[in-house]
Amino acid sequence: MKKTILIIHTGGTISMSEDAVTGAVKPGEHNPLTEKTKALTELANIIVEEPFNLPSPHITTTEMLVLKNLIEMHFHKSQIDGVVITHGTDTLEETAYFLDLTVHIDIPIIVTGAMRSSNEIGSDGLYNLIESIRVASNDEAKSKGVLVVLNDEIHTAKNVTKTHTSNVSTFQSPQYGPIGIITKRGIVFHHAPTNQECYNISTITKRVALMKAYAGMDSTLLDAIKDLKYDGVVIEALGQGNLPPAAVDGVKRLIDNQVPVVLVSRCFNGIVQDIYGYDGGGKKLKELGVIFSNGLNGQKARLKLLIALSYTSNIKEVEEIFLH
Ligand code: ASP
Repeated sequence: MKKTILIIHTGGTISMSEDAVTGAVKPGEHNPLTEKTKALTELANIIVEEPFNLPSPHITTTEMLVLKNLIEMHFHKSQIDGVVITHGTDTLEETAYFLDLTVHIDIPIIVTGAMRSSNEIGSDGLYNLIESIRVASNDEAKSKGVLVVLNDEIHTAKNVTKTHTSNVSTFQSPQYGPIGIITKRGIVFHHAPTNQECYNISTITKRVALMKAYAGMDSTLLDAIKDLKYDGVVIEALGQGNLPPAAVDGVKRLIDNQVPVVLVSRCFNGIVQDIYGYDGGGKKLKELGVIFSNGLNGQKARLKLLIALSYTSNIKEVEEIFLH
């Protein structure tokens, strides 16, 4: 029997066209996907929503919350079997991870996008949309958290990241790989996510800064973050979780002011750990009360800290949330 799939278009290259004269890729008056969506009814019964049409650099947690509410509303009202969200690829992983942490319904939720706009040669939008509807209609895609489907691969929202500025195989899960592949004949899952987290939130009111460590980094920007009264900071640290010594006092001042500092690595693979005992080394940072994140990249750790801070501003309790 045909499944009922909710498709939510949010914008991005997948909903844009290339201007034949200037070459500029931009949204037009009509979303080219809306027309095409009607032609997809052979695959599933389709319900279409288009709450906004934004390039993904314009997306904030406000739009992410709109999507969460829309999905939950349809789940309770329309008996949908799955959800597909089309989204710009630049911040796709952030929206996917936000929904992964905050939407807890037992149907497949797929986020997809495209690297080439609707009228470009080799456009991948319609292809990715069709594959996403197929995955959203597959019972095996249930209970795996939010999934990201592009270019014949299925990734978890937690591990996937955009790795290339323009290549259609841009979405990869460093260290872990995809959890499934899509072929012409079927959908094959080859491993399953181990743990899923669940946070009930209705608003985001806190502010979390994200910064990257570099050789010669000092405390000036960390002090500015404190003075600007941010509620938390994520630092993409060096290697296994170390900082230049001149940055340590800034970290200490933040923690003394009850501002949680979460460390991730600026390395593409691996997790941060308190290994090194030199000045600025992970062991010293841990002693100061820095929170070591469990393999998330910077942009996802920032979203998780925003969500954690809507529960508690106690640094120890935030640390517990980052153990998962
Ligand atoms: N800049 C575009 C966006 O994220 C890129 C894309 O959709 O692929 O909206």
